[in-house]
Amino acid sequence: MYSGAKALFYALSRSATLQRLASRYGMASPRSFARRFIAGETEGEAIAAARALERRGLRLTLDYLGESVRTAAEADAATREYLRLIDVILASGIERNLSLKLTQLGVDVDRATCVDNLRRILEPAQRHGFCVRIDMENSAYTEVTLDVFETLWQQQYRCIGLALQAYLRRTEADVRRLNALGASVRLVKGAYKEPAEVAYQDKAEVDASYVRLMRLLLDEGTIPAIATHDEAIVTETRAYAHERGIGRDRFEFEMLYGIRRDLQASLTANGYRVRIYVPFGRQWFPYFMRRLGERPANVGFVIRGILSERGAADR
Ligand SMILES: Cc1cc2nc3c(=O)[nH]c(=O)nc-3n(C[C@H](O)[C@H](O)[C@H](O)COP(=O)(O)OP(=O)(O)OC[C@H]3O[C@@H](n4cnc5c(N)ncnc54)[C@H](O)[C@@H]3O)c2cc1C
Repeated sequence: MYSGAKALFYALSRSATLQRLASRYGMASPRSFARRFIAGETEGEAIAAARALERRGLRLTLDYLGESVRTAAEADAATREYLRLIDVILASGIERNLSLKLTQLGVDVDRATCVDNLRRILEPAQRHGFCVRIDMENSAYTEVTLDVFETLWQQQYRCIGLALQAYLRRTEADVRRLNALGASVRLVKGAYKEPAEVAYQDKAEVDASYVRLMRLLLDEGTIPAIATHDEAIVTETRAYAHERGIGRDRFEFEMLYGIRRDLQASLTANGYRVRIYVPFGRQWFPYFMRRLGERPANVGFVIRGILSERGAADR
């Protein structure tokens, strides 16, 4: 069931019809169903969402949605959007923190284009005190993502961090590799459908791997981000940090926009750092489908949303 749902939603995410239907209804009005997970299609909406989070004592990272670009021109356009976003964030005064994907910056076009585009973003980002986190995509990209990351790290960009996925069997070695550099890791369970040769398939195995890696990061990492909505793991993290005398300023929790807002609030009230990943932009469909794949119960609220919007349009 755990990986079956992911496979189904991955297949659906490639359906052009579904994408058309979702794009038509998903963000159409302030109450549309995709707005539960996506802050909006414009920068203005993202900044407004960010300000609302900051008022509640939360930190944030903005993600300009987009992935799997196939041409250098598209990668260049995404890079320019990020450069514009840096200016918008500077003007707005919200926290300076970005998340991005390498397939958005042209890693499928060629590695050198992607490194150049990332450097174009890191240059002003570093100058203005931003943190930039590279998301981790499916396992075909793990090695090249680490490789691009290390290339820029060697070029003295220190404002970058990376996400690593607990479901991959290789990740313990990758955590050690990044801990040795002194780089910050965001630990996630992993959102893609992966084969058994590379990834644990059972939820229990993924969770056990997550807890092992969380401990390794708290012991040896640099301001690691424990990115999960799994309350049992959050509790385990708090207990481990307490037991080892690791202060609340030496790690942070991270969660996705719109998920477990109750847990976000209670951790903040207890003095933990909590950062929210705030995605926005017109290319929201693949991200949205991954959120459905994680929790098929979400489909119910989407269907109700589509029906009520269609009903409203018909009235
Ligand atoms: C800040 C952040 C960044 C991320 N970056 C990446 C990345 O770069 N690469 C990557 O592969 N994955 C990324 N992810 C996604 C991650 O891999 C998981 O797919 C996702 O976080 C769900 O796993 P979980 O740890 O919350 O645990 P789960 O066991 O899946 O869920 C635990 C509980 O959280 C709640 N929950 C989880 N997902 C949902 C949902 N979609 N809707 C409603 N409730 C939900 C439910 O209450 C559930 O019982 C990121 C996640 C976060 C929080």
